[in-house]
This record gives sequence, C-alpha cells and structure tokens, in this order.
Amino acid sequence: MPGYRPEPDRDSRAWWERVARREFAVQECDACGTLRFPPRAFCAACRTEGWRWREVAPEGEVESWIVSRQPFVPGLRDPYLVVMVRLKAVPGGLVYGNWRAERPPEAGERVRGVFTQVDEELIVLDWMPESCIAIRSGENSPAD
Ligand SMILES: [Zn+2]
Repeated sequence: MPGYRPEPDRDSRAWWERVARREFAVQECDACGTLRFPPRAFCAACRTEGWRWREVAPEGEVESWIVSRQPFVPGLRDPYLVVMVRLKAVPGGLVYGNWRAERPPEAGERVRGVFTQVDEELIVLDWMPESCIAIRSGENSPAD
C-alpha cells in the first residue's frame, strides 16, 4: 500500500506503539488536565512535565492537505494525499495521515481515523470522511 510511512523518533515512539495496538491516545497533563498532541515534553498551559496517556476518539476536521509525489516504495502508485486533521478532542492538536477516499478532501469536513495494517510491522492511522463511514456501515448492516 502506498502512502506516508512514519519514522518514529524518541518523542513519538510510544505513541506509535499505541497505534500498533489500534489505540489513539494523546498526552494529558498531570497537573491541569490539558490534552496535547503531538507529544511534547511539558504542558504549554502550566509547564508541568508530568503527563499520562489518554485515549480519545480519532475524530476531527480537515485543516489542509498536501499531494505527495514522492513514492516511498518504487513502482507503487503515486501521488498520494496526506491530510492535516484538527483534532476534536485536543484544542490546537493537529495530526497527519493518509487520506482514504476516492475524492479529494474539503477544508473543514469531518473525518474519522481508521487503523490500516500496512505490512507485518506497521499499522498507521488513516483519515476517512465521516460521510463515507456512514455509507460503509450501511452496507455492512444485515439485510433482513
Ligand atoms: Zn498543565
């Protein structure tokens, strides 16, 4: 599957480990409870360093997107689209991921994260329009 392939660093490794378990988590400040994402060393609101993971719904709105023409694996189809999503649960929180729809995104449209198994080692969080998810669940409901 083509697309953005993350390279976890010191600050994001633990987050990717959670994604591998199909969990979407953000940091929650120990002192004031402010949620933050992406992972940072201390709370911007109160400067406390202590924090814990808090699982939240992977929901948000499309802030912007880019079309990447850089293939990660030669020969696979490209270009592909990477969206920047403004998280509903985290004020100011932005997350990047592959766009999973047959059409381009629209600014401000509501999206939901879906976990995608890329290969044996990697699960990523992709983003799909809520409207598409509604249609899909309709398709999957049993016909009586
Ligand atoms: Zn705080």
